[in-house]
Amino acid sequence: MNKIEEKINHIRCETEMEESILFLLKLDDFSPVFNYADKVNTLHHGLFVDIRAILEFSNICKRKCKYCGLNSQNKNVHRYRMNREEIISTALEAIKAGYRTLVMQSGEDDFFTAEYLGEIVKEIKSLSNVAITLSCGERTYEELKHLKKCGADRYLLKHETADTSLYSFLHSCGTLENRVQCLRNIYELGYETGSGFMIGLPNQTLQTVTRDLLLLRDLKCHMAGIGPFIPHPDTVLSAYPAGSTELTKRAVAIARILLPKANLPATTSLGVLDSNEKNNIFSCGANIIMRKVTPPNYVRHYEIYPGAKGVSDIYAERKELEDSIKALGKIPR
Ligand code: SAH
Repeated sequence: MNKIEEKINHIRCETEMEESILFLLKLDDFSPVFNYADKVNTLHHGLFVDIRAILEFSNICKRKCKYCGLNSQNKNVHRYRMNREEIISTALEAIKAGYRTLVMQSGEDDFFTAEYLGEIVKEIKSLSNVAITLSCGERTYEELKHLKKCGADRYLLKHETADTSLYSFLHSCGTLENRVQCLRNIYELGYETGSGFMIGLPNQTLQTVTRDLLLLRDLKCHMAGIGPFIPHPDTVLSAYPAGSTELTKRAVAIARILLPKANLPATTSLGVLDSNEKNNIFSCGANIIMRKVTPPNYVRHYEIYPGAKGVSDIYAERKELEDSIKALGKIPR
């Protein structure tokens, strides 16, 4: 057994994990790990790539996350809030176009109380058997319980970074402890639990990334979104460099080894699909891709980071994405 196989085995057998992950992240040539992660992914998910719709129903946010373009201190954002009818009709359009999961995302917007959001979830669930993922920030145990009762299936709340002091630096209005507690509540309430983190945050080290990966495992995540940090011009982190795509793919590959069955999205910030690229984003262990279905007049104002593309035609976009996935030898679903 060579050194790389030995370290992968350590991770699988849950011994010397931290040291083994660090060793792998530092490799000059990571391709054996990508190949291994790809095999694990194929074993658990076959050739399927699941396409998720993401509906960004409000960009109003009370928080001040330093990296996020929607933070409440950014006065250059035109704020919007979709109403109940708009949310439901967009959801139905996405379902008609073939989406089987709908991610409903927003800033932390108190207008959407658990009661109100719950009614919307209930109505969408009564009209179709779509899976609903909520991604609207930290909520109390009682609120999460209510939303689950209304039919929400999954909850996505990235821990962002497992480094306590980096977390505090980035979030003046929250603590890592609260975030993690909220994720544990989500799990306990029976949601499919999604966490995740960013690669390339200021002062992040490979040690931090290792701890991020181990936290995903500790939280028993069913989903994990790992994406590069992309500086937003209207934030205090505008001058920092973007996170590395290579390191992001490495982290996804190790997450696949740690959580063989998990749903791991190739985050949009990782780049576009290119069927000519042999080393495409689905060869590192990712099995999910998300597409925005937010109406065009709103989507241009939902800029967490620059460059994320919106859609003008839900049907045509989905068809185009399915074709690119097929061109990679995978099966869109
Ligand atoms: N308000 C919700 C969800 C919206 S933000 C919440 O707090 O969970 C969705 C995700 O976008 C965040 O969890 C974060 O990981 C990511 N994100 C925000 N700003 C980013 C940036 N500048 N670069 C890359 N990812 C970013």
